[in-house]
Order: sequence, then C-alpha cells, then structure tokens
Amino acid sequence: MAWRGFRGPLGLPWLLPPPRARAALPGRLSSSCSQAGLGPVPPWLLRSGAFVGGRWLEGQAAFPVRDPATGLELSRVADCGAAQAQEAVRAAYEAGAAWGRASAKERGALLRKWHDLMIENKDSLARIITAENGKPLKEAQGEILYSASFLEWFAEEARRVYGDIIPSSAKDRRILVLKQPVGVATIITPWNFPSAMITRKVGAALAAGCTVVVKPAEDTPLSALALAELANRAGIPAGVYNVIPCSRQQAAAVGEVLCTDPLVSKISFTGSTATGKILLRHAAGTVKRVSMELGGHAPFIVFDSADLDKAVTGALMSKYRNSGQTCVCTNRFLVQKGIHDAFVEKFAEAMKRELFIGNGFDEGTTQGPLINEKAVEKIEKHIHDAVSQGASIIAGGKRHSYGKNFFEPTLLSNVTTSMLCAQEETFGPLAPLIKFDTEEEALAIANSANVGLAGYFYSQDPAQIWRVAEQLEVGMVGINEGIVSAVECPFGGVKQSGLGREGSKYGIDEYLEIKYVCFGGLQ
Ligand code: NAP
Repeated sequence: MAWRGFRGPLGLPWLLPPPRARAALPGRLSSSCSQAGLGPVPPWLLRSGAFVGGRWLEGQAAFPVRDPATGLELSRVADCGAAQAQEAVRAAYEAGAAWGRASAKERGALLRKWHDLMIENKDSLARIITAENGKPLKEAQGEILYSASFLEWFAEEARRVYGDIIPSSAKDRRILVLKQPVGVATIITPWNFPSAMITRKVGAALAAGCTVVVKPAEDTPLSALALAELANRAGIPAGVYNVIPCSRQQAAAVGEVLCTDPLVSKISFTGSTATGKILLRHAAGTVKRVSMELGGHAPFIVFDSADLDKAVTGALMSKYRNSGQTCVCTNRFLVQKGIHDAFVEKFAEAMKRELFIGNGFDEGTTQGPLINEKAVEKIEKHIHDAVSQGASIIAGGKRHSYGKNFFEPTLLSNVTTSMLCAQEETFGPLAPLIKFDTEEEALAIANSANVGLAGYFYSQDPAQIWRVAEQLEVGMVGINEGIVSAVECPFGGVKQSGLGREGSKYGIDEYLEIKYVCFGGLQ
C-alpha cells in the first residue's frame, strides 16, 4: 500500500479501508466525502451532477475525484460529453437575452449576494479545495477570499461600464459608443486554483451581461459545483451559470464543442500553453473572441544590491506556495555572483526552517501533495536532467515518504541555461539557481523564454529598478515582492503566456463589444 502516514482533516489518523475498496456509485457522492475526506462540510454544498439551465443533471456516467494526499476517492462526478456541452451552451444562450437586458445594478446585486454566500461558507469551501487539490487549508482559505473578491469587485464594476459620446466632424451627426455583452462565454479552468480561476472569469462575464458554461479540471470539479449551488441560492437565474464537469477522456470532445459551437461568442481559458493553442485553433473556425491565461516561466533575479533577507523571504513565498504549482511561481532563480553564495546558504536554511510536508488538513503543513503522479514524474525528470549536466542538489531532490504524490522541496545550484528546468515550466517545488555576472546577462536569460507571465527581482538601486522593470518581457513584475496577485491588478501575460487581462478595471472589457452608433440627419 503506497499511502503512508496520512491523517484526517482533524489531525486524526484515517480509519478507512484503502481507497479502491470504497468506490462510490456513479453520480453520487462517496460516503467517504462527508465522513472523512472533507470533515464538517454541509452535504448540500457537495454536488456531483452537472448544473445546466438551473437544474442538476445526475445519473449519467461518472468519474472519480480523489484526494491527491491520500488517494481516497472523495466523490464520483457526472462525466459530461459533447451532448451535455451542447445542451449547456443552448441553456446559456437562451438565458442570455434576459440576463443581458437586466440592469447593471440588478446583476451587481446578484453577484454581491453570491459573494456573501461564499464568505458565509468560506470554511467549507476551503475544505473542499484542500480535499480535491491538496493545498494546505490556510492557503485554501486564502484562495476562497481571493476568489470571492472577484465577485465583489465585478459586482461593483458592472455599474461602471461607460459608453462614450465622440465629437463629430459632421454637424448633422452625433457619434455614440455603446458597450454590450459579447454573448455566451465558455470558461475552461485548471486545477491549481479550483475556485479563483472560475470567479476571476465568471465575475467579469456576468457583470458584463454574458452567460457562461464552465468546464472545470478533471481533478477539481467539486469547487466549481459548490459555486453553482451558491449561485443558485443567490438567485442567479437559471442558465446564466452552467457547469459541465468531465473526465480527461472527454475533455477534448467537450472542449471542441465549447470552442466551435456557433452559439458561443467568447472563450476564456486558463491552463497550459499547449492546450491554449489547441483551443485557439478551434476558435479560429468561427472567429470567436478569446482570452488566454497560459503557462509561465517566471524569473526571480537577485542583484548584488538586494536586501538578502527580504530576497530569501520573497523567494520562499514565490516558489513554494501551492507546492510550486502556480502559474506565477518562480521557475528559475538568477543570482548575481557577489551575493550568490550567501543567498544559497540562507535560502537552504529558510527552507529547512519554514517548509513542512504533510496533509493539507494538518495544522502546520506548508507543502501539500502535487496534484497527481504525472506532476511528480515531471519534477523528477527535470532534476535528473539537471544533475546529469552538472547541477548540485542543495536540498530535497526526491519523493517524500508521506505518500506517492509528495515531493521534497528542492534546491539546485550550478544550474545552466541548457538544462530543462531552465527552459520550461516545472510546476512543482523545484528551485533551480543560475549564477550570473552582469545585469545585461540576467535580462538576456530572463527574456530568452517564449513565455512571459510574471517576473520578480530584488534590488535597492533605483536606476536599476526602473531599467529592469521596463525591460523584463512579462505581463506582471514584482519589485522586492514575491507575490503580486490582487483583485484590483491586471493579471495576464505577454508572448505565449496568453492574450488579455483578468481582474482589475480592465477585466470586464474581455466580455464587452464596442458598438458605434451614428445618429445622423440632425439638421
Ligand atoms: P491543462 O492541461 O491545459 O488543463 C487546463 C484545463 O484545460 C483543464 O480543465 C483541462 O481538462 C482542459 N483541457 C485539457 N485538454 C483540453 C482540450 N483538448 N480541450 C479542452 N479542454 C482541455 O493545464 P494544467 O496542467 O491542468 O494546468 C497547469 C497550467 O495552467 C500551467 O501551465 C500553468 O502555468 C497554467 N496556468 C496559468 C494561469 C494564468 O493565469 N496564466 C493560471 C493557472 C494555471 P482536464 O483537467 O480534464 O485535463
């Protein structure tokens, strides 16, 4: 039995038989869901059907959702296919006219109600995230607040969608600009932020007057379905928020419908660059609007002038949150030669002092499991490649005995730009350190990537701060900061990290069309 030493949400050892002995009925929650995996979560928040046109569709094929920390089956969730995807798109389309005509104040009030219900149920929603994603409960609680903040923000932004009146060069004309909802938006999201990646899109879409169909990741559908239950209770009308979970086997077929159906006007995707390219190809056939939040490869540059202690604190936060599984996580550290050795030493000490592997439900855990074994294999591949080319393991470097999806936080030095971990996203708890000599060299390495989502640097030289902030080829820059996301800030990348921005005052534009109205014959 591979699962060892795991503990229940209350810190008690599991008293359950091995996971495979506890398969649940199709379309129903496993008995383990409420008894063990989630702790005190009200049953009404644990949904397993698809949510289409305001109704829960149960009783079809189902796929298992497992706790990545223990392997236990949490639930069996409806496995939707192309037909259900079409049904959901039609439901969203039919609901669109009334929702688009509702006043911005009415839409905002419902989004606000949805936000309030999230806050009322924040502990339960966080437990659902920890159970299906594995992240420490404190991080999951942080995600719920972050996630709810998008509903609150866009509830307010709904009323600030202003048009324009443009001075005309013809005396008998008036030129008006209206902003109108684009129509049905399909939303495809990853597992690393099972709640926030949905509300960051859906908040903006609903505020603008669009209706949505959400396809959550196979690993984490329960958070999306809990959001549907709360949307329903908040009074969001039937068909405005639809969710169609599906297994990885169905993802391509479902995705194709969501990106090609003529009733869909807009696609908003967060996930890997590779999948984003597939969806862009689908979207081209009917020329849909697209927003793409794709992969990153964030550089974290420590210049000789940096405050060493602050740089180490920022490095830990930026690298190891969510066990290194965030798109804005640092993927490569570039450290100037004068400060390099001191940084390596302090970073390794801080890792030992601050990082604790365990079940996300256990008090004190900072490092939960990776999402699945494929993720563990990728980090192993990157470490093996680096070591075979001369990198040194300063800390970690192998799987952890806690369970098969757990990996030790790892620090590698003597990394060069030819190594895989310096060339592509690892998406795990691996910190590779590259030593550099000059600012120009650091910028050249940082900008050599074909993606550009986030970038960080530590420096106390004001002229250098401006030079580097302006020259880094990324969508978001942290200067002496390791975490930069917040609801009021525009989130998004350049190059192959994507198209468009989410959150902030700009996020709602992704769901609005500009219509020019020429009012003539006025003399
Ligand atoms: P992924 O494999 O691209 O999956 C993301 C979503 O796309 C999942 O719902 C997945 O379904 C679905 N999907 C996969 N293949 C599809 C297809 N052919 N058609 C339609 N849908 C399809 O990404 P991931 O590995 O889960 O997520 C990690 C990636 O997301 C990283 O690269 C990370 O940097 C990126 N990310 C970016 C941001 C950002 O804001 N820029 C935020 C978070 C994550 P299944 O789950 O069923 O496979």
